[in-house]
Amino acid sequence: MENQTKYISEPSKTLAVRNEVDVLVVGGGPAGIIAAQAAAEDGLKVALIESRSFVGGNMTIGLPILGFLGQKGNQIIKGLPQKLIDRLKQVDAASEHRPCPLHMSLTLVEPEAVKTVALEALVESGVEVLFYSFCAGVVMEGDELKGIIIESKAGREVILAKVIIDCSGDADVAFKAGVPCEYGNEQGGVQPPTLMFCLGGVDTEQLRLSIAEEPRTYLTDFIPAEYFGQNNQFIVVGLRKLMQQAQEEGYKLPVERTIIITGLRKGEVWINMTRVNGVNGTDPGSLSFGEIEGRRQIEEIQKYLINYVPGFENAYFVKTAPFLGIRETRRIVGQYTMTQEDILSCKHFDDAVAVASYPLDIHHPQGGGCTLVWCGDCYDIPYRSLIPQKVKNLIVAGRCISTTHEAMSAIRVMAPCMAMGEAAGRAAKMAVREQVQPADINVQKLQQELQSKGAYLRIGQEEAVTLG
Ligand SMILES: Cc1cc2nc3c(=O)[nH]c(=O)nc-3n(C[C@H](O)[C@H](O)[C@H](O)COP(=O)(O)OP(=O)(O)OC[C@H]3O[C@@H](n4cnc5c(N)ncnc54)[C@H](O)[C@@H]3O)c2cc1C
Repeated sequence: MENQTKYISEPSKTLAVRNEVDVLVVGGGPAGIIAAQAAAEDGLKVALIESRSFVGGNMTIGLPILGFLGQKGNQIIKGLPQKLIDRLKQVDAASEHRPCPLHMSLTLVEPEAVKTVALEALVESGVEVLFYSFCAGVVMEGDELKGIIIESKAGREVILAKVIIDCSGDADVAFKAGVPCEYGNEQGGVQPPTLMFCLGGVDTEQLRLSIAEEPRTYLTDFIPAEYFGQNNQFIVVGLRKLMQQAQEEGYKLPVERTIIITGLRKGEVWINMTRVNGVNGTDPGSLSFGEIEGRRQIEEIQKYLINYVPGFENAYFVKTAPFLGIRETRRIVGQYTMTQEDILSCKHFDDAVAVASYPLDIHHPQGGGCTLVWCGDCYDIPYRSLIPQKVKNLIVAGRCISTTHEAMSAIRVMAPCMAMGEAAGRAAKMAVREQVQPADINVQKLQQELQSKGAYLRIGQEEAVTLG
């Protein structure tokens, strides 16, 4: 009887409608920022709610944006995502898209500038941004989603919308509305989270030249030593020998690979090496455990870097990311579920609304390892994977679209999430203007609009495959 859950009934109450809009975007991460901008482009009333005090989502935790370039080096994410990068560049807060043999491309961004620049772009587009507001429930009429319930210091209030775009990363809106969702792999295991942290005082020149000149000692995974001889902004993945040595000498490290990301500022690097297996990113108790354990791991990792990795001799701790980075939680079951085969066969879809190229990249739910598989080129993301089963007036964009656990590991990086956001925003706009369901818009017209606004699609390049 000890574990029996207690229940208390919440009395029903009448909620105030805080706002009524054409398109409501829930979540201001890479997908949500772009979705809201696209939806607001020609004057619709658009709002974006965000539970934190800033936009950016995982763009603010010290990660480079991966996936703007494809495996053949061509730029496959353009349109509004590129415009955001251009704005960041104007304030020296983004790098070029740097080709990378492992990650296809990395685009370094300055996390603090992302918060400011993306917010400016949203405000300029006329998007009403509401911070400190958590989507806590939904307003349904049959199978139609009519609005959401937000929870904030002001209590519970309603925002009504003609179309809602769920960019929460966790499919919060879809789940609450009754869309069937999946979680993790067949055993229910999800990719583990990481608390990113930033070190200063690192001699990144010494680091890269050591790797370039002594590859046997400083062996990296998949990225040839010459790459480091030629690039001064990079991601180091590997250094397994050093880690083995450290572990033999008593260090307890949670991962098998060293991952170091150079920042945009001199001497600054971001470390992607904490790892807390078994965290459920939709449960506050589990998330709290992740924060505690992630923070606990930092000291040992920092000591390892300082004592074993060249260039870290004078490194000092600067800060942790503003929150634990969650790789995977729920995925919706949509009208089409993308699979590993779609990715590895570089699949064309006749309802393609974005093109991606990032490999399957699964941080194993158990242990400290990772599996990477490349397809050799690009694959399409079909519109049907953004359209949930069972619930009307809803589009989903970002890492929680309809995929398998394996396919999610590829489409989850930020450039494709931004591209999905653009497709979702333009689709929502069409649905409102034409007074049809998002599922019923003319996808060819959406593709034409995406292309005319600068997005990249492979339409016309090869015969598209029609799925039954
Ligand atoms: C540790 C780690 C390392 C990674 N490395 C890279 C990398 O190097 N490069 C790369 O491109 N990608 C990387 N990824 C993947 C990538 O960061 C994410 O998959 C991507 O950011 C997902 O974008 P999104 O817009 O779907 O969601 P998110 O970036 O998670 O944004 C979701 C937003 O919604 C808000 N939100 C959530 N729920 C609610 C709610 N109920 N109400 C209101 N607001 C809500 C959140 O606060 C957040 O701002 C990494 C991920 C992790 C965790």
